[in-house]
Amino acid sequence: MNTDSRQDTVDTTLDAEVILVGYGPTAVAAANFLGAYGIKTIAFERYKDIYARARAVTVNDWTMRCFQSVGLDTDLLKDMDPTNTLLWKTYSGKELMRIDIKKSSLGQPSSSMIYQPVMEQTMRTGVARHACVDVQFGKQVTHVSQDADCATVEVTDIETGTKTNTRARYVLACDGGSSGVRTQLDIPLIGSTINTLWVVIDARVKQWWPERHVLKFWSDKQRPVVDIPLSMGNHRWEFPLSENESEKDFETKEQLWKMLSTMGITPEHVDIHQHAFYRHHVRRAAHWREGRVFLLGDAAHMMPPWAGQGMQSGIRDSFNLCWKLRDVIRGRLPESMLDTYESERAPNVAMITEVSEELGRVIKMTMTGPEKIKAMVGGLLSKFKLPMPPSPLDKPPTIGKGWVTGNISAKSAVGQMIAQPRVATPAGHRCRLDDLLGHGFVMLGDEVDPASLLSTQERKAWDALGTRYITVRSADGSARSDTDIMDMEGSLLKWLRDRKTKAVVVRPDRFVAAAYGSGLSVPN
Ligand SMILES: Cc1cc2nc3c(=O)[nH]c(=O)nc-3n(C[C@H](O)[C@H](O)[C@H](O)COP(=O)(O)OP(=O)(O)OC[C@H]3O[C@@H](n4cnc5c(N)ncnc54)[C@H](O)[C@@H]3O)c2cc1C
Repeated sequence: MNTDSRQDTVDTTLDAEVILVGYGPTAVAAANFLGAYGIKTIAFERYKDIYARARAVTVNDWTMRCFQSVGLDTDLLKDMDPTNTLLWKTYSGKELMRIDIKKSSLGQPSSSMIYQPVMEQTMRTGVARHACVDVQFGKQVTHVSQDADCATVEVTDIETGTKTNTRARYVLACDGGSSGVRTQLDIPLIGSTINTLWVVIDARVKQWWPERHVLKFWSDKQRPVVDIPLSMGNHRWEFPLSENESEKDFETKEQLWKMLSTMGITPEHVDIHQHAFYRHHVRRAAHWREGRVFLLGDAAHMMPPWAGQGMQSGIRDSFNLCWKLRDVIRGRLPESMLDTYESERAPNVAMITEVSEELGRVIKMTMTGPEKIKAMVGGLLSKFKLPMPPSPLDKPPTIGKGWVTGNISAKSAVGQMIAQPRVATPAGHRCRLDDLLGHGFVMLGDEVDPASLLSTQERKAWDALGTRYITVRSADGSARSDTDIMDMEGSLLKWLRDRKTKAVVVRPDRFVAAAYGSGLSVPN
């Protein structure tokens, strides 16, 4: 583990540098990142145990890359299954559309099925590696205040009712969709709740049935169903109630079995262990920062689950914000750059929310022939300029307006997440690119010492951020320095050349901050 233990500007009069409110997936991700950066952090969670109901079902390459940065991807992947195909079919078995998921350029599986309680447990175990993170369960945050020096949270011990105050430089409100912090700060929640009520049935697999491992969308006039092969022998079905149905129609196991039997599923195949009713929200907080307090995850935004991006968006929020907090806390970057958390994350969340909504509409439509569904999904992908085929979310991540130099455009490297091919050290050790990048800023040059492209002033500014300078060399050539990276697949040099640049500065979250040709100064 590459733990950065420098805490050179820790204010000893505070209890912590950062307080996390809540300990759901967004906060646990933040605790992993802050822990790896050596930032003193305290998390308060009202519940003693992990929330037992599995909600999220899938994770993608970008999210796994976040976890790779803290050495957790391998452990997490052990409990996940690959998603290879999305399949639309009718109850009569007619195949309407098949999307095969392509290999990702980000160095992680494109899409994996998860079992959320187990995934969260592994994430929590990851946090336990970091002595600088203290997690307190059974503690409810009941008030937040702030002044010029710090933020103070009032914490109530749920068992004893005792109240204590804890002070830190920043508070990350990761307290979910009904965020008490958001309410207390009077930050409006904009948007609406979709009226359709959905039933979610969770089951454990007893006996495999044909195509059990395929993520399916059943298209039927009466009832579309999303059929989801969760990992670790778990399975889920989600379906909407029609206008003349209510929760009463799906209260008993008999009613649920009757429903599942339409897809050929019987008590021989699964044990049903829980079911729940959901209405989906399309909501976002009007702003995500109030002084020293930031909203992350569901506290900042809620979307329908159809693109499988709700939990992942919270994890990406944490990854975006935590390195910025680290560098501001250490006095390397100005406080004002923390505003780029919202300006970079909000457009991506808005796009993904819209994709999720549209996918929900496609799922609910009755399709009888392949033409209609292909036209609908094709229309959806072209609307969002997403590639077709494969999966709608295969577009490499780009950030919106934010902490970058120069303009973000499809043709420029600026604002894009850099690909992650296999590389090697000059001593011949093969690894993934990020394993050599670490937690800091890295400037990469195409067969050139990237530092030689900087002006004296630019060099001084990047040096102050601890930037490392690395030359990428073709594997067919020779290394000239111990710090060179050998491009084993040729795709790293190709990535730079496709974007017509000789050098880029990669941020700790793997997005490109600046590129040769469009300005190499440190963003302001
Ligand atoms: C049916 C369904 C399917 C879904 N499928 C997917 C999917 O496939 N992929 C995906 O990425 N997402 C999916 N989601 C969304 C995902 O589950 C959520 O986006 C995610 O759980 C949000 O995480 P969070 O940490 O922000 O909030 P939460 O998980 O809600 O965690 C908030 C935590 O804060 C605690 N807390 C709240 N207030 C306080 C307080 N005052 N003091 C202390 N602690 C407090 C709570 O107890 C809780 O533990 C799905 C959701 C549903 C409902």
